[in-house]
Amino acid sequence: MTNEQIESAIEYALQIATTGNEEEIETIIEALEKQIPKKGMPYNSGKNHNFIECSTCSAHLDLYYKHCTKCGQKLDWS
Ligand SMILES: [Zn+2]
Repeated sequence: MTNEQIESAIEYALQIATTGNEEEIETIIEALEKQIPKKGMPYNSGKNHNFIECSTCSAHLDLYYKHCTKCGQKLDWS
């Protein structure tokens, strides 16, 4: 999926939000948003081992993971 496709899918989900099952729609939106890569925040554990912190769920991840292992957030390493 391209970022554009994801964004239009989110828009569509928001449009039907008034008629559909709210919980279901929230799940769809969350899953789609996680496909848009986000930069992780550098996190220094102080133990000579650097992690990044997932900006979605705050999990501490080893560097260069493509996705957060906890919440599935796609990570941007550019
Ligand atoms: Zn996460």
